[in-house]
Amino acid sequence: MSTFKAPKGTYDLLPPDSAKFLAVREAIAAPLRNSGYGYIETPGFENVELFARGVGESTDIVTKEMYVFETKGGDRLALRPETTAPVLRAVLEANLHKAGNLPVKVWYSGSQYRYERPQKGRYRHFSQVGAEAIGAEDPALDAELIILADQAYRSLGLSNFRILLNSLGDKECRPVYRAALQDFLRGLDLDEDTLRRAEINPLRVLDDKRESVQKQLGDAPLLRDYLCDACKAYHEEVRELITAAGVSFEDDPKLVRGLDYYTRTTFEFVHDGLGSQSAVGGGGRYDGLSEMIGGPALPSVGWALGVDRTVLALEAEGIELELPSTTSVFAVPLSEEARRVLFAKVTELRRNGVAADFSFGVKGLKSAMKSANRSGARFAVIAGERDLAEGVVQLKDMESGEQVAIGVNEIVAELESKLG
Ligand code: AMP
Repeated sequence: MSTFKAPKGTYDLLPPDSAKFLAVREAIAAPLRNSGYGYIETPGFENVELFARGVGESTDIVTKEMYVFETKGGDRLALRPETTAPVLRAVLEANLHKAGNLPVKVWYSGSQYRYERPQKGRYRHFSQVGAEAIGAEDPALDAELIILADQAYRSLGLSNFRILLNSLGDKECRPVYRAALQDFLRGLDLDEDTLRRAEINPLRVLDDKRESVQKQLGDAPLLRDYLCDACKAYHEEVRELITAAGVSFEDDPKLVRGLDYYTRTTFEFVHDGLGSQSAVGGGGRYDGLSEMIGGPALPSVGWALGVDRTVLALEAEGIELELPSTTSVFAVPLSEEARRVLFAKVTELRRNGVAADFSFGVKGLKSAMKSANRSGARFAVIAGERDLAEGVVQLKDMESGEQVAIGVNEIVAELESKLG
């Protein structure tokens, strides 16, 4: 061990487990790639104001959880705690929304940083795959994203998850509800912090996880009862489209989520095998975000799915992903000359697209075969002085254990044909 450890709240992704993370990222991205979403990548840090204005001044993310720093040049930056605001910033900056092809549909994959209290499933560095559809107000777009997330989870074999769905209204009906909720909250027995929150962002009080707060919220007014006709019709259509796609969901009139920018459709994917950190993904419509960061009105919708928690969900359901072994052929030389010959064969195999590896360092047959085993290779190619003198190498089938001599000049073609 070195003097250093991974910082608190972080962990390293190491082989072989890291293969699972890559597979999860890939599984989430696949339905997006297949549905017109293009890949976008933004920097890991942004001007701190982007998040303050975008995510919201009263959110935990902005007030408590951001990694903020000042550069040597005097810029105030923050490691990104989420990627929706950065994506929108990038789309606006590049004028993608003016290309006359709305919605702009993009997906991303990457690290997020939040200074949270670490526990299982909650880290200070974690990874999300996200999708954003920018510049269109269409219930089919909200439905598309929910259906694609469902498809991603199901393609991994997950089934013990639920979709919670709500509408947060729009700038017509939300303020009316907000005032009604505030009235209600002022009458409760709440601590000072929570009362202050009730003044700044009362909807977030509904999200308070504390029992002492939750038990007072039983009679809280529900946004559902305040939605304007347009929001009601919009929400009803989203529900119908999802239902028609065979995706089941639960209406959750108290679902608000921790970011300020959501309007209308909001949803969360929760997994029932994860304990307290049960949200594996979430998202919704953010029709006002563009204007909040100085852009034009651009109604948009998106989601982010947590890669770390999706991996935990797989473990909770006992799902072993069928990951094809990365190495097909493992070469084991038993003499100096064999090292040169087999190294050349491995290079040739690789150039022909066959995944091949080599026993490096000076090793005896036994420990080299152990490496071959561990690599998961389907075949081992073994050669010593005597083999080469006869112009052959030994081809061992690692499944059956069967071993045959093959001409040195035929081995590459033979392996290619065996591996199909
Ligand atoms: P959010 O950006 O807060 O809507 O979160 C979207 C998803 O990211 C969540 O459903 C989680 O799966 C994941 N996530 C959020 N915060 C964390 C964290 N601190 N550690 C691990 N995963 C997280």
